[in-house]
Amino acid sequence: KRPQSACSLRSTCPYCGVGCGVLLAVDDQGALEVRGDPDHPANFGRLCSKGSALSETVSLDDRLLTPRVHGQDTDWDSALDLVATTFKDTIAKHGPDSVAFYVSGQLLTEDYYVANKLMKGFIGSANIDTNSRLCMASTVAGHKRAFGTDTVPGTYEDLDEADVIVLTGSNLAWCHPVLYQRILATRKARPDQKLVVIDPRRTASCDLADLHLPLALGSDVALFNGLLAEIEKRGLIDAEFAKYVSGLDAALVSARADDLAATGLSDDVLAEFFDLWCGTKKVVTIFSQGVNQSSSGTDKVNAITNCHLATGRIGKPGMGPFSVTGQPNAMGGREVGGLANMLACHLDLENADHRNAVKDFWSAPVMPEVAGLKAVEMFKAVGEGKIKALWIIHTNPAVSMPDADKVRDAIAGCDFVVVSDITVATDTARLAHVLLPATGWGEKDGTVTNSDRMMSRQRAVLPAPGLARPDWHQLAEVGRRMGFNAAFEYETPAEIFREYAALSGIAGGFGRDFDISGLADLSNTAYADLAPTRWPVSSGKKGGRFFADGGFFTPDGKGRMLPVAWKPPVAKTEKRYPFRLNTGRIRDQWHTMTRTARSPRLSAHLAEPFVEIHPEDASAQGIGPTALVLLKTPNGRAIVRAMITDRTPKGEVFVPMHWTGENAPSGRIDALVPSVTDPISGQPESKGAVVSVTPF
Ligand code: SF4
Repeated sequence: KRPQSACSLRSTCPYCGVGCGVLLAVDDQGALEVRGDPDHPANFGRLCSKGSALSETVSLDDRLLTPRVHGQDTDWDSALDLVATTFKDTIAKHGPDSVAFYVSGQLLTEDYYVANKLMKGFIGSANIDTNSRLCMASTVAGHKRAFGTDTVPGTYEDLDEADVIVLTGSNLAWCHPVLYQRILATRKARPDQKLVVIDPRRTASCDLADLHLPLALGSDVALFNGLLAEIEKRGLIDAEFAKYVSGLDAALVSARADDLAATGLSDDVLAEFFDLWCGTKKVVTIFSQGVNQSSSGTDKVNAITNCHLATGRIGKPGMGPFSVTGQPNAMGGREVGGLANMLACHLDLENADHRNAVKDFWSAPVMPEVAGLKAVEMFKAVGEGKIKALWIIHTNPAVSMPDADKVRDAIAGCDFVVVSDITVATDTARLAHVLLPATGWGEKDGTVTNSDRMMSRQRAVLPAPGLARPDWHQLAEVGRRMGFNAAFEYETPAEIFREYAALSGIAGGFGRDFDISGLADLSNTAYADLAPTRWPVSSGKKGGRFFADGGFFTPDGKGRMLPVAWKPPVAKTEKRYPFRLNTGRIRDQWHTMTRTARSPRLSAHLAEPFVEIHPEDASAQGIGPTALVLLKTPNGRAIVRAMITDRTPKGEVFVPMHWTGENAPSGRIDALVPSVTDPISGQPESKGAVVSVTPF
């Protein structure tokens, strides 16, 4: 049992990018109570099933409580010395690109900042990437192409003000439930607000929608190009806003030429969608993993932004493209530059002025001049022996990466693997040479940024168990032991945050969007009390929306429309693999279930890995209800329970991405997903594999 800690304070949920505020209290028996924070602007007191079950997930079962080296408990000094010495020796022998960090959207901003600073400024490599690569890298790339920076133009208030909300590639009802509840509350008060869902599956988000477009998997570019051509045909190009936009003509040429038939949608459904979108000024298009996790994810994002730029429906109340992020701090990771191709504060790694400014600010000895290895490339390099020392922080790539069996084998064969986590019970932790016990949600202290740029504090209400330490502390200790003492003398997350905020002033000086320099002088008390704050926070701009009157962050200040054309998923169905495999989340589990599986209530929703299959396909394959089903792709196999439903279209199957384990039923589904990526964003095509489906 945990020791008692009498506290009651505000924090945030550690799961999805909605970023809900929670109120935490610990009773005199040491039990944690979690309620929705009625004053947090992301959720106004609402919580979904996962958030409201948080108190059931903080037991110390399977917790990693002491550092371990080769399976033996040890003390911090021994473990940290070994990590620092091995990284230093490896760099001395093989160069800085022989080491890598693979981090996570579960990190707090302060953790992320220190990891990025250590790798890019002091080790001198850009080999730091994050599991956010699997989540929203295509949005980052699409935003940068369209806006010049990775900027979310709107805010959650736009969902309240929109007259039409389009969800594309987003099962918001299950994956961002509190935002979905927010939309339902608006529709109750204002029944004229329309909801459109674009998804091959008839998901829970469709249940209350006015219109569902069951498009062919991966055909979003064709659909939004069709919409853009229709916008032009109806004379709805905003001539006034067009002066803020470049690339209109080329985008229109591509849009007119694209193949709307690729969507497989009927003329009636298309006409209804076009009428709604074109006939309504206040449209928000929400998109998520169904758009991002694709070999043409970046083009999909730009097909959406094209429609909003063409009509000037961006950055104004109730209008705009809106990316919702999967993880609690995917946005914070993007902001600190925790991706292999980014710098810090939305500055560009490959821009010499930006790079030198950050180098000077950090007093860094070296800075990489080119992007590092993105996640899929990184684990290939591990498998090829090019990465010889790897530090994995709060993520489980042996399960969650595409081609997961190969990734697991690559990690197992790596010379030196460090894993920082809260638990020993992950497939990745089992492969580590050094295990570092980290503080987890409820025990750690810092900030996160949600999908609408709201920075909120995550606060510690529980004491750190055993010898667990915060990630920023582990990283800073290794930095100091590698000889970079002055740069990593942090005592508190507040110090790190102030440094980060000051650095963002440089980004502001370069005319970038991410500027929180107005927070650079926060006292420790003000940091401790920091209320949810939407960036930017500078003398020039506070919170609010971007781009209503242009002001894009491209060299000419114009928003860019891109000529994009539909491409099918890379893998082709064939006789041996006749089905298309779609993967995604379920309502009550999170990632590889290391936390949510601790709650019996959450596990009761869907207790086993399963495959959704259409009744006609099940019948043709001889698969009965609840039968065990063997799924095979050229990459791997899984055995899961049949869930026969017409919510999934014929010719496609859907399997959730959470389960691990080797025994039947075994839903280690990412072992089946090939490591095909979007060539621009590097994001894997997690929804486009081809698969055989037979009775087990
Ligand atoms: Fe947590 Fe997301 Fe649920 Fe909010 S919607 S309670 S952030 S999982």
